[in-house]
Amino acid sequence: MGSYLRPRGLDAALRARAAGPCAVLAGGTDFYPARVGRAVEEDVLDLSALDELRGIRATGQGVRIGALATWADLAAAPLPAWCDALKLAAREVGGVQIQNAGTIAGNLCNASPAADGAPPLLALGAAVELASVRGARTLPLGDFLLGNRRTACASDELVTAVLVPAWGARTRSTFLKLGARRYLVISIAMVAAVVETDAQGAITRCGVAVGACSAVAQRLPALEAALAGRRLAAGVGAVVSPAHLAPLAPIDDVRAPAAYRGDAAATLVARALEKLAHEQAA
Ligand SMILES: Cc1cc2nc3c(=O)[nH]c(=O)nc-3n(C[C@H](O)[C@H](O)[C@H](O)COP(=O)(O)OP(=O)(O)OC[C@H]3O[C@@H](n4cnc5c(N)ncnc54)[C@H](O)[C@@H]3O)c2cc1C
Repeated sequence: MGSYLRPRGLDAALRARAAGPCAVLAGGTDFYPARVGRAVEEDVLDLSALDELRGIRATGQGVRIGALATWADLAAAPLPAWCDALKLAAREVGGVQIQNAGTIAGNLCNASPAADGAPPLLALGAAVELASVRGARTLPLGDFLLGNRRTACASDELVTAVLVPAWGARTRSTFLKLGARRYLVISIAMVAAVVETDAQGAITRCGVAVGACSAVAQRLPALEAALAGRRLAAGVGAVVSPAHLAPLAPIDDVRAPAAYRGDAAATLVARALEKLAHEQAA
């Protein structure tokens, strides 16, 4: 049995992290299921008393989400409309008990291909803030997520926040998730779309990301380029072509065959864009 440490300040937590290998524990909703049937042998660094890592607040540059913000915190936070994709994802992570315990940083650090937090944050252009006794650094989320269960978080680092840049007032965003049933399900495919328009409804900037169809959720840059300048109006989903999905590499697994996943991703992307067009017209 290893040691168990639950510091009350970030400095103490970072010193403990620097002192040697330890298992970091936040909400525990990925940590414990990965250890079913065996004792926790590692030294454990429990972050749950680090109140300075909680909280969601607007900054001059956008929104700063503390690493320990839970999905329930996110769903309840008064965030701008461009964060709707993230709020919709928050309501689809497990059930209410999981949403009350699971944190945004835990979701990203666990780096599951099916992490529901990744597509909305990638589409929004979010960054991850990391700290260690050596100092702090910020990485674009796309550089933080390296592969299935692999991140750029060094062994002496903790994620301290997720930084979401501001989008314009005419921005809409959404999140669609497909699983084997409607609720309480791990994604077969999920899509986040963030679209900013000018006063005439022409798309000036957008981010589209797909999860669970590659080792790491992927942005679709060719689709984003094809959408630029188009009107966000009914029919916009027809822009989506198979070539736009080239960054994806779906696999066969217990949840779905690769071909179904790829097809589902294309359908969800088109639906997400149509949904945003419909909301804009309403
Ligand atoms: C029944 C059930 C249903 C679920 N459904 C979904 C779902 O629908 N969608 C989905 O995406 N996920 C789902 N999950 C997975 C999980 O709930 C989420 O990924 C959650 O956000 C993990 O957060 P946590 O705080 O519990 O992480 P923890 O389990 O505490 O930690 C996860 C990993 O991240 C590391 N870590 C945590 N915080 C930090 C930090 N600040 N710095 C560095 N490393 C850190 C830990 O060391 C660990 O490796 C489900 C889990 C369960 C048990």
